Amino acid sequence: MTLTDTMPALAVVSEVSFSHLSDLSLPFAPPSTSALDDAALLSAQRSVAQIRRRVDATAAALAAEIEHRSRRELGHAGLAQRLGARTPERLVQQLTGATSREASTMVRVGGMLPGSLTSGSDPAAEPDPHPWLQEVGVAVASGHLSLEAAEAIRIGLGVPDDTVSVESLAHAAATLLAEATTLTVEKLAARARDLRVGLDLDRVAEREQFLRSKRYLHLFLQPDGMTRLTGLLDPESAAIVTATFDAVTSPRRGGPRFVDPTLAARAEQIATDERTTEQLVLDAFVELIRIGTAADTNVVLGAKRPGIKLLVTDKDLRQRRGVGFIEGHTEPVSIATIERHTCTTGVIPIKFDTEGEILNLGREHRLFSSRQGIGIAARDGGCQLGDCDRPPSWCEIHHIDHWTRDHGSTNTNRGILLCRHHHMLVHNNGWEITRTHGTTHFIPPPDIDPHQKPIRARTKSPALTRLLST
Ligand SMILES: [Zn+2]
Ligand SMILES: [Zn+2]
Repeated sequence: MTLTDTMPALAVVSEVSFSHLSDLSLPFAPPSTSALDDAALLSAQRSVAQIRRRVDATAAALAAEIEHRSRRELGHAGLAQRLGARTPERLVQQLTGATSREASTMVRVGGMLPGSLTSGSDPAAEPDPHPWLQEVGVAVASGHLSLEAAEAIRIGLGVPDDTVSVESLAHAAATLLAEATTLTVEKLAARARDLRVGLDLDRVAEREQFLRSKRYLHLFLQPDGMTRLTGLLDPESAAIVTATFDAVTSPRRGGPRFVDPTLAARAEQIATDERTTEQLVLDAFVELIRIGTAADTNVVLGAKRPGIKLLVTDKDLRQRRGVGFIEGHTEPVSIATIERHTCTTGVIPIKFDTEGEILNLGREHRLFSSRQGIGIAARDGGCQLGDCDRPPSWCEIHHIDHWTRDHGSTNTNRGILLCRHHHMLVHNNGWEITRTHGTTHFIPPPDIDPHQKPIRARTKSPALTRLLST
């Protein structure tokens, strides 16, 4: 509603009844509605609503002042307390006849209004506790937004935390204000909650990348000939390393007890090994590197992967929006990370009933067989992105199609080799891959190439290159 379509209607309203709105000594005189044509009737209804919102804003400002004069640190000297009301909201309720919900809305929204005690316009005032709601307060004060709508925005958006900033909340509030005129309060509340969830999700991916950017490993040669190893692992790398080391040192670190005699014997051996747990871990680390570098570079690793599992709801995976979790860890991971793992390790659907009991365990979906892996490795000869020189043994098989588009298909035409680093890049930074008639193209995201010119991938396999050229 713009002011220009309000002004003439305000004139109508004031003509018929405005003086009766404020002067209560005058008898109530209903507006002569029958004299209004349709347009004037609707316009008057809107105008009265706006006036009512202004009156509500005034009541909210008063309620916030009552709360301020009843603030906790005043103790028994507080206004509400002196009048025997348990809380300032209770006092507002007594004074206005409002429900407890309405009274609390008045108090909360009153605190957002420009010029209120906490809104920050007065330098002596307390700092604004919710600067992201400033524009919401302005809209309430101008009579364009109801108290209920403002409260829905406040509750739906929540408060900033270490992942959602004041600025992003202010931006979300501005979006909601622009939409508020066309939404019911219920819809607005739902929309505010959605925006908040969206902010949290975006931050999961951002935080994941931020943590990953801090990873490092450093070797320092010591004067005595020893080498000190220091480093930082991002959560996903840590999960892989920890799972491997736990398996190596089990049962010392409280691993499972084995019924199988050979496993039990091995566990017994580890338990009685003279080496300390720390020495066992170091030996395993060196051994893994030795085995890894000696591995056949033409075979894609993956028959036996480190035992990390990622859990995600079917809905989040299908909508490509939400979060997942590494089993045993509480830090959420982004859907991009989940999708990268579904590429290389497949998906096992687990159905639960409404009580959380397992209904059934499905079969593994979309896992390239080791035979297919050999074929893909022979074809691609290594990581396919750019001039990356990682051999097949360093690569994972990326599924060109998104999981929901091509559920269950493991045609070798739809898989290509990418090293772990480039696999992450493809999933997290929005690279697209097309493959038609044996030709693969990488399409960079717009922030890397605004024209998104496809980059043709060529096989890194000298054998295949020779075969095709003869
Ligand atoms: Zn992938
Ligand atoms: Zn690569």
